[in-house]
Amino acid sequence: MNPLYDNIKWVWLDLDDTLYDFQAASLIALGKVHSDLELSRFFRSADEWIDIYHRHNSALWKLYNRAEITKEFLKMERFRRPLVEAGADDATARRLSMQLDPLYLDLLGRAGCTIPGAIELLQSLHSNGFKVGILSNGFTEVQHKKLLSSGIAPYTDCVVLSDEIGINKPDRRLFDYALKKAGTTASASLMIGDNPDTDIAGATAAGWRARLFNPAEDSLYALLP
Ligand SMILES: [Mg+2]
Repeated sequence: MNPLYDNIKWVWLDLDDTLYDFQAASLIALGKVHSDLELSRFFRSADEWIDIYHRHNSALWKLYNRAEITKEFLKMERFRRPLVEAGADDATARRLSMQLDPLYLDLLGRAGCTIPGAIELLQSLHSNGFKVGILSNGFTEVQHKKLLSSGIAPYTDCVVLSDEIGINKPDRRLFDYALKKAGTTASASLMIGDNPDTDIAGATAAGWRARLFNPAEDSLYALLP
C-alpha cells in the first residue's frame, strides 16, 4: 500500500486541474464563445482573446480565493476587462459579459475532459475501501456538470463546494465544514490538489495530510493506493 494513505479514511480531491482537465476544457469553451459571439470584432485572433482572458481571470481568481471580491464581480469582470482592453465600450463589454458568463460555464462543464489517470485513481481508491470527497472553490452551477460529463460523479461520496457556505479554500472553516458534512476527522483526511496556496496550505493548517499534485509534471497514476 502507498504510505501516502496510511491511517487515511477519506481522500479529498480538488476538481479543477487535479481530476478535471480545466485547461483543456477552458480552451474548448473560450474558442467556441469566440466564434459564437463574434469576438473577432475585438480581438485579432482566438489566441489573443484567450491570452488576454487568462491574464485577467487568473488575477481575479487570486482575489476571489482571498475573499477580496465576490463571485458576481469575478464573473462579470473576467469578461468585461478583456473586452474593454480590446477596445469595446463599457456598455457593450458589460452586455457581452452577461452573455458570455452562462455560455462559457455551460461549455466548460460539458467538455468532460479528465486529467490522465483520474478515473483509474478514483476506481482504485474505492476498491481499496477509501471514501472519496471533492473539495472545490469552483462555482456550483458548473462543478456538478463537470462531475457528470467527466464520469467522476459515480465515484464521489461527498461533494463540498465553497459556494455552499460562501467560504473558499484556504480558509480553515471550509475544511472543517467538509469534515462535518462527511462525518470524519482531520487525522483521517488527505487532501490532494494542484494549488499550493489553497489546497495544500489550507489542508495543512486544518490539520489534514496534504499532497501537492502538479498536472504538468506529476502523474495521477503515481498516487494509486
Ligand atoms: Mg485546482
